[in-house]
Amino acid sequence: MLVSLSDVLIPARKEKYAVGSFNVINLEYAIGIVEAAEELKSPVILQISPSILQIYRFAPIISACKKLAIASSVPVCLHLDHGKDFNTVAKVFCLGFSSVMYDGSLLSFEENVNITSSLVNLAHLHGISVEAEIGIVGKDEEDLSKKTYPQSKATDVEEAARFTEKTKIDALAVSVGNIHGVNTPNIQLNIPLLQDLHHSLKIPLVLHGSSGVIDSSIQSAIENGICKINVATRIINQVNRCLLDHYQDKTHFHHHKELTNEIILTVKKEVKNRINLFGSSNRA
Ligand SMILES: [Zn+2]
Repeated sequence: MLVSLSDVLIPARKEKYAVGSFNVINLEYAIGIVEAAEELKSPVILQISPSILQIYRFAPIISACKKLAIASSVPVCLHLDHGKDFNTVAKVFCLGFSSVMYDGSLLSFEENVNITSSLVNLAHLHGISVEAEIGIVGKDEEDLSKKTYPQSKATDVEEAARFTEKTKIDALAVSVGNIHGVNTPNIQLNIPLLQDLHHSLKIPLVLHGSSGVIDSSIQSAIENGICKINVATRIINQVNRCLLDHYQDKTHFHHHKELTNEIILTVKKEVKNRINLFGSSNRA
């Protein structure tokens, strides 16, 4: 069934588990993610970034994901990942998303408050949840060499509390040592900072960039208020390995049909691994 972000995160916060939010790159990913959640009886979040929406001309990928969510035996939230401007986010309200992230983390505090508040008012009228970000979750250095991206900035507890109070958001993405796009898990999160945020904010907290974080630190984060965990790089890396293996085997003709199925199975295996770590199985 299709549900909002709050529908899956409020019970997660209470019971101290996290719901995986997995990036949909194409239909193979969407099927693999939903089937993994169904087999483990876990709620799940399908998240799509604006760049993927553009590649797929918006409606086809959204319609497919929405249909998968509605037909699913578990709660599935359809979430916009990193909406960067008011128009992009407002546009998807009518297209079937049950949740959006507005990322105003690079704006001034006042601008971030103003745009986020306007979007929250509009979203809540449609029964849609809103995630926002305070502090900056940066990108891995390898990515930084390709295009400019600001350095990480840790979330300030007092600023996050004021932001949450003013905007009435449903979930907050925090910067506690996490970085986007890290290939090898070697990061230990700043758990004391997370504890302060958890006690001050009283809303579900979101961890972006989980692929670079070691599993034991992810578990401590879940104990301390992280209820939504975004996963992209880790799964993309597994799919890349699958593609390389597939094409390195030159003994037979490669039909895309075979590859499609291999990608679904690869995504499914990795999503199950993360759902088990996040503790959300048998919660649906
Ligand atoms: Zn992110």
